[in-house]
Amino acid sequence: MKITNVEAIHLRVPPMNGPCEWGEDAFIVKVHTDTGIVGIGESDTSPAVASAAVLAPESHQSSVGLKNIIMGENPLEIQRLWDKMYRSSNYMGRRGAGIHALSAIDIALWDIASQHYNTPIHMLLGGKYRNTIKAYGTFIPAQTMEENRAIAQRLKAQGFTSLKFGGGIFGDDPNVDEAIVKCIREAVGDAFELEIDVATKWKTFGHSAAMFKRLEPYNLHWIEEPVLDDDHHGYARLSGLTSAKISGGEGLSTRYEFYDFIDRAQPDIVQPDITRCGGISEMKKIYDIACMRGVQLVPHGFSTGILLAATVQFLAATEHGDLIEYSQSTSPLFTDLVTNQIAMENGHVCVPDCVGLGVELNEDLIEKYRVS
Ligand code: MG
Repeated sequence: MKITNVEAIHLRVPPMNGPCEWGEDAFIVKVHTDTGIVGIGESDTSPAVASAAVLAPESHQSSVGLKNIIMGENPLEIQRLWDKMYRSSNYMGRRGAGIHALSAIDIALWDIASQHYNTPIHMLLGGKYRNTIKAYGTFIPAQTMEENRAIAQRLKAQGFTSLKFGGGIFGDDPNVDEAIVKCIREAVGDAFELEIDVATKWKTFGHSAAMFKRLEPYNLHWIEEPVLDDDHHGYARLSGLTSAKISGGEGLSTRYEFYDFIDRAQPDIVQPDITRCGGISEMKKIYDIACMRGVQLVPHGFSTGILLAATVQFLAATEHGDLIEYSQSTSPLFTDLVTNQIAMENGHVCVPDCVGLGVELNEDLIEKYRVS
């Protein structure tokens, strides 16, 4: 089997130059083969930058666009191609957008292999530990406490037993932060799992430490990204100052960054995004490092149904992968891009026994939102 083309697809809900909420754009790849099998992958990144990383012509041996690196290769040699892409894009890739683009291709290669061998991805990864995975819902807090109460109660009524919120107005003002946490804790009750995502907006150790103390009465399950993931020292000083777990890592890529983060920042939970960390192949390695240090891995995931399908297949094949993020985005790229989207029922998602990612793409929607 040979790779015959790599398509980089940039989707965007208009307007192109206005603000863009999470989920309102997407980067998808289609890897075509001479057998007619097509692999699909995505990355939750800047689609314009990732497209360039795929389509760029060769500059020299360590700055080659990913398409050029894998054209004509056998797509079943997934790890060999991962290593080849990593080395041949090393100067302009290595971390960030280069690895994001590589992640999308890696996911597409697993999709191809699963279709070729007629075996689910979770079986190729070593077997299925569970048929369902507990889902936690993520939402961006609204401006008023009435709206926040209503959102939390609606999600609880849908069956969620775990909720996370962050972004929007959360993280900017200590009084507002506490008011939102208090409001949502009261809306869902004491027995409910609640997480907060600070998205690094508390910025410093001192501010974070003060907020940890202030929010201690609300029994949070985890506090996510109080400071930058690069601030290993700040993370390490914060660990132990709260009875909540501390989590982070959604912006990190490759085993190298996660090894350093786990070793130095001492998080309780790491949150690699399968579409940014290096794909399914690299996620396996990051999971192994986390397990060796007693750190839980709860993947980040807030994009399209392609990311969701890849994450479900990966988690199903891990011993401790029993919690998944489930986006509450109302973007058409989350709700309608994949026509057979994996649904959340009674607070859980089912692990499909499909071949490949099993995603059916809405090609009309792709044409509607495609940026040329
Ligand atoms: Mg986050």
